[in-house]
Amino acid sequence: MQWRKLCAVCGRKPCAVNYKRGDVTYYRSRCDGCIRKKNRKPAPKPRWLLEGYKKKPHCEKCGFKSKYKEQLFVYYVDGNLNNNNPLNLKTVCANCQYEVAREGLGWRQGDLVPDY
Ligand SMILES: [Zn+2]
Ligand SMILES: [Zn+2]
Repeated sequence: MQWRKLCAVCGRKPCAVNYKRGDVTYYRSRCDGCIRKKNRKPAPKPRWLLEGYKKKPHCEKCGFKSKYKEQLFVYYVDGNLNNNNPLNLKTVCANCQYEVAREGLGWRQGDLVPDY
């Protein structure tokens, strides 16, 4: 019988079962958790984050102070997602995000950009 090794990635949990043939069980090199982690695509980092821009703690349109940074979004004022000049980036709350879309200011949300 094959010895059930520990996960090669985390080294803490036993390897996941790969398949069984007769009385012999074959294992994978990673545990269930690490296999799932590997298969899950990491969320791509938005460009503005890579360029070093940090979300403001408040909305730059209405001044709303957020409790959680997920409440705020980064927008490109000129709609050019390659223009990561801090002057072109604005932190906007969910409320203003809606207004921006309705008023057609031409701003584009930076968080929706795929990493390429
Ligand atoms: Zn593991
Ligand atoms: Zn706002």
